[in-house]
Amino acid sequence: MWGGPVYWTGLGFAVALGLVVGSFLNVVVYRVPRGESIVSPPSHCPGCGRPIRPWENVPLLSYLFLRGRCAGCGTAISWRYPALEAVTGLLFGALFLVHGATPMLPLWWVFGAGLLAAAVIDFEHQWIPDSISLGGLALGLLVVPLARSLEGEALASAFVQSASGALLGGGLLWIVGFVHARISVALGRRFDHWPGEDEELPGPASLDYWTWFPGLGFGDVKLLAMIGAFVGPLFVVETIFVAAVVGLLLGLAFAVVHRGFQQPFGFAPAIAVAAVLVIASPFHVA
Ligand SMILES: [Zn+2]
Repeated sequence: MWGGPVYWTGLGFAVALGLVVGSFLNVVVYRVPRGESIVSPPSHCPGCGRPIRPWENVPLLSYLFLRGRCAGCGTAISWRYPALEAVTGLLFGALFLVHGATPMLPLWWVFGAGLLAAAVIDFEHQWIPDSISLGGLALGLLVVPLARSLEGEALASAFVQSASGALLGGGLLWIVGFVHARISVALGRRFDHWPGEDEELPGPASLDYWTWFPGLGFGDVKLLAMIGAFVGPLFVVETIFVAAVVGLLLGLAFAVVHRGFQQPFGFAPAIAVAAVLVIASPFHVA
């Protein structure tokens, strides 16, 4: 397959599909956190309300053709739109190169797109929609084993891989969050956001006691459970280690740009970026 016409056609299709999906992700990361529908109304300029014409909605090309401005009112279009399209296109191409045209490939694409959306949304809103994390977890637990069995793996073992990956990924992070919360309580530590204004610390009888942590959100636990269901127990542990390094680099980059260590974002973007690196790396075919 390498280098032949099938290879180039496949790679071209993968990148083109990624660009289109990236364009869709721009809608997702804007509308889902605001509780808006991702299908209607059609996209419009936030400056003048002018509907985006189909030929102005071609990934990357329209941004270049329009020179980054609305054709109606001249409002600048954020560089982040073409950036997310380009990153998604590159990721889809890389996933095709690493995994080949296999039954798992469409699932890697969906997974990668979900991770990119989760990273952007959490970076901006410090929150990951359940439709991404829990939706991805369901897909990872139910559909990934079926696809792996089509690739020749025994179905039972593929199910065990997904279930143990989800338990280990979510479980490890849950233990860190839970132990940190209990130690913080024992030491009488308080955080800006934990407990909230005039709120009591939860007791073991309440669900909050088990899922409500300072510093680390339960959203991170759900995100890692989803990742574990896709990549299995070995690679989910690797994802956590890579995420620690990515988080450090993101934090340092932010400190350099903003000249301060008050980092306003959490761990989830680093986790999502780490998972993207793990599945798109030719050294670890998860
Ligand atoms: Zn406009």
